Amino acid sequence: MTPTMPADHRELISDLSGIVNDHPSTDPEVTLTVLARDAAEALDRVGTPEGLRERTGYTVLLHATCWYVAARVFSKSLSASYTKALDGFRATLDPASCSCPDGSHPTDLDSEYTVEAGVGLLTEAGRAAFAEDYDIDDEELAAYDCDGFLADLADRATASIREAYGRNFGGIDVSHLDAQFLRDGGGIDVVAVQEAIRRTWEDNTGPVALWSARRWLSGQVRDEERLGVFLSMWMGIAQSYGGLPPSYARDLTAAMDTIDLDVTCDHPRHPWHTADATVESRYRAVLHLYAPDDHPNTPVPADLASRDLWECPFQYAELARSAKTDLEGWRVMRGGDEEDWEA
Ligand SMILES: [Zn+2]
Ligand SMILES: [Zn+2]
Repeated sequence: MTPTMPADHRELISDLSGIVNDHPSTDPEVTLTVLARDAAEALDRVGTPEGLRERTGYTVLLHATCWYVAARVFSKSLSASYTKALDGFRATLDPASCSCPDGSHPTDLDSEYTVEAGVGLLTEAGRAAFAEDYDIDDEELAAYDCDGFLADLADRATASIREAYGRNFGGIDVSHLDAQFLRDGGGIDVVAVQEAIRRTWEDNTGPVALWSARRWLSGQVRDEERLGVFLSMWMGIAQSYGGLPPSYARDLTAAMDTIDLDVTCDHPRHPWHTADATVESRYRAVLHLYAPDDHPNTPVPADLASRDLWECPFQYAELARSAKTDLEGWRVMRGGDEEDWEA
């Protein structure tokens, strides 16, 4: 008779496969929180054959999904749950006991296959089903239970969660950008800031936005630089489509909170209305503002180009409102508790 895996484990394979493929079909924060909780509960059973099977399965699964916790969910409690379960298993493992022949530990563990392996390994029936589905012999199956193999998985998963915790919730140092963005006299080279935001392949939209926010909050922004720093910060937020972690969002939110939203004006339109249609037109508009001779083309028509229209507090308020909507969207998209996102 073909061995069958419990129905809820079939479902777990499907849910976790969506997550490791970066196309979750469930709320990933919920699914992974349940996984880490179940893993922690299995710790109490490690002294039994059932518990040993679960230790293997959960260690494989926590390792397979840890990149998602590190890069896609910004939740302190989920990170802590992963670390707790992994540390718990790790404390019961003795890598020195490994007597496997060289190269016999399972490899190629970053795929959907790993999810099937991990869920299968949790139970006796699951192991039989996994072995049959993938034509795995007893020796190969036993290698998954090796303390050396599991300790290595646990160590690597823990290291990646710890490293991500610092990146997602800690302080990000962007002081190296001073050398790129500050002129000798201390003024801000807005053109250089814009060029940096455009170099998206350097993955620096977030750092540039954060640098702009810190500069804004430091009060070291001259009157003529205000607009350029503000627009650079706004563009950094608007163009971070996948959302930035709290380590960035905190200062960006604080900077946007300095803008007075309770303002009105009589202008029918403001310059940014004509400039913000595309990333390219935003860029051209700001370059033209700060270096019109070098960059004569701007999407902003002459009748909207006066500096007082650009500086109108109502336009600042409108842009701050849309930035705050984006920042709020990051929380919804990336999860975490409200206080994870606060200073
Ligand atoms: Zn081994
Ligand atoms: Zn106005």
